[in-house]
Amino acid sequence: MERTLSIIKPDAVKNNYIGKIVARFEEEGLRIAGMRKVHLSKREAEGFYAVHAGRPFFGELTDFMSSGPCVVMILEGDNAILRNREIMGATNPAEAAEGTIRKLYAASIGENAVHGSDAPETAAVEISYFFRATEIN
Ligand code: ADP
Ligand code: MG
Repeated sequence: MERTLSIIKPDAVKNNYIGKIVARFEEEGLRIAGMRKVHLSKREAEGFYAVHAGRPFFGELTDFMSSGPCVVMILEGDNAILRNREIMGATNPAEAAEGTIRKLYAASIGENAVHGSDAPETAAVEISYFFRATEIN
């Protein structure tokens, strides 16, 4: 059993896709072990994406992630990290496989509907960035 952090990003929240995206994870057999709607400050977005601080798109990314509310979730299931990445699709929606969340609901490489942790170590750090123990159940 594995846990991963998922974020429904501000573009998808604005476009009213919360329900469709949550339903998709549940249909795929992932369980929602934690969930909250948050509007990140610019500083909170910078903290979350600190690993990308040197990248040219860092300013754009953190502006976007603080532009409106997100839904932060913990997905739980067998192989949850990799399975979530598969369900999300490629970072660039133009390259995402048919039927993936990014193919269905995202418009651009920057505004790409969802985030998912990429490894056990980052999943643990990212989950603890948003959730305390009593909120995970
Ligand atoms: P992923 O979200 O698929 O793990 P990365 O970790 O590489 O992708 O990048 C984090 C986020 O930064 C992406 O989801 C996207 O929102 C943004 N991003 C990545 N590459 C670019 C880019 N070339 N231009 C603009 N935004 C980008
Ligand atoms: Mg990533």
